[in-house]
Amino acid sequence: MSYALVSGAGSGIGRATVERLHADGYPVIAVDIARPDAALAKQWREQGIAFLALDVGNRDALLPAITELSESRAISTLINCAGISSYGRATDIKPAEWQRVMNINLNGSLWLCQALLPDMLARRQGCIVNVASIFGLQACDNNLAYNVAKGGIVQLTRSLAADYAHCGIRSNAVAPGLIETPMTAAIKHAPDTHQKFIDWHLQGRAGRAEEVAAAIAFLCSADASFVNGQILAVDGGFSAGRRFGSTN
Ligand code: NAD
Repeated sequence: MSYALVSGAGSGIGRATVERLHADGYPVIAVDIARPDAALAKQWREQGIAFLALDVGNRDALLPAITELSESRAISTLINCAGISSYGRATDIKPAEWQRVMNINLNGSLWLCQALLPDMLARRQGCIVNVASIFGLQACDNNLAYNVAKGGIVQLTRSLAADYAHCGIRSNAVAPGLIETPMTAAIKHAPDTHQKFIDWHLQGRAGRAEEVAAAIAFLCSADASFVNGQILAVDGGFSAGRRFGSTN
């Protein structure tokens, strides 16, 4: 089996995806800006998972490193998972914050596609799964840059399908709802907001990183061989509708 490269691999959804794809038999390359702690580094070494410390937003460093890597091993699966949260509205967001979020949450996914697509196209074999968000489908207040970047990921996914589906490349995205990860731990400090957010998920709970990883693994698998340009919400029903609770 050829390699799967996962960005944002050191934590949360990315880490669960590395574990899931490894369990499914993929040789995995884990990319993250932060080095794994000693325990995770040891685990990955023992599992034969390669780690690369890279900032997905730094195109000048990323492109040569990934291109060189893809010259020595076939990388047919790309999971664009690196991302950061952000707060702010049009009236108060600072240009530097806007740029930072666009750079990591949107541009970084494109740069990794640019690094890996030439080889995928040459082999006419490739699968890209981008990690969008329910806030790429709907907007949330005080979340401008994140909403816009994730909306961009949705259209990046469809554009990749429009451009390369006929060349043997599948490009899809997951749009997670609230998932319990280090990124969302801070919301728990505002219990009312946290509960309200949970209540908007029809299943009445937050999701687990492993549940998103399972959806990503499906999109990577042969079972999804005719799925292309799609955005799969993994959100416990958040985007499906609202429940008023008049019946049990
Ligand atoms: P997390 O904070 O647990 O993990 C994010 C990882 O990305 C970290 O390991 C971090 O070091 C890495 N990262 C950050 N900037 C990077 C950069 N410039 N280059 C390389 N790596 C970088 O977050 P998570 O909750 O697992 O989120 C993963 C993805 O899922 C993100 O794209 C996020 O927007 C998306 N998402 C998360 C949720 C949620 O509720 N947790 C919901 C929807 C979408």
